[in-house]
Amino acid sequence: MLTRGNYKLGQDRIWSFSLPSGTTETCPGMTPTCGSHCYAVALERYRPATANAYRRNLELSQRRDFARRVRAFIVAHEIRIVRIHVGGDFYSPRYARTWLRIVRRLPRVTFYFYTRAWRVLAIRAVINRMAALANCVAWFSADRDTGVPADVPPRVRVAWLMTAPDDTPPASTNLIFRVRRLRRVPHPTGGSPVCPNENGAVRARPTTCEVCGRCWRPTPGGRFPLPVIQPDL
Ligand code: SF4
Repeated sequence: MLTRGNYKLGQDRIWSFSLPSGTTETCPGMTPTCGSHCYAVALERYRPATANAYRRNLELSQRRDFARRVRAFIVAHEIRIVRIHVGGDFYSPRYARTWLRIVRRLPRVTFYFYTRAWRVLAIRAVINRMAALANCVAWFSADRDTGVPADVPPRVRVAWLMTAPDDTPPASTNLIFRVRRLRRVPHPTGGSPVCPNENGAVRARPTTCEVCGRCWRPTPGGRFPLPVIQPDL
């Protein structure tokens, strides 16, 4: 179900839940650009065990007791930060509503996600409700195929996938990710920040998300107390 950390997230604080990637079945907002640079598809290709785990998660997500199981898992493991979807995306309004319930009922757990499902109106409506919750940090993923989304809700930030040196992110972008071949090249200063893992700076150790916090911290320096389950609403 949820797994603890990885090379980029860090090994301790951040857990994630993932689904298979790379088709519109589980990534309904995918674009030619993101489809051709998807790290999650590559991961599933060279790690069959991971691909199997993601397929099992997809089956789990279709069970009626999915929300209850996820909440119980989070509480049992005293998880404080959850990245929804290292792979996959909100694939239907119903599935997105399930996560909305989970996020609502665990107000002391921080959830964050990047999504291209904002391109599907019925799913976007649910995502916007999730993004309005204080314990949720939502990123709309964008690229040269989508352009910057119109009407971005106040609490939602925009992450741009930069795929070529001439793929200049619009000024309203809040964060830039870069495809692998660009990551070793220092990014010009000024403009939107680049993920510190991908900005070409030489470091003794890669920056992990649990240390960086740009994507998941609702407020700088915020504290993350133990999770609690609220009574059913
Ligand atoms: S900006 Fe920071 S938190 Fe966001 S993906 Fe990069 S390292 Fe992780």
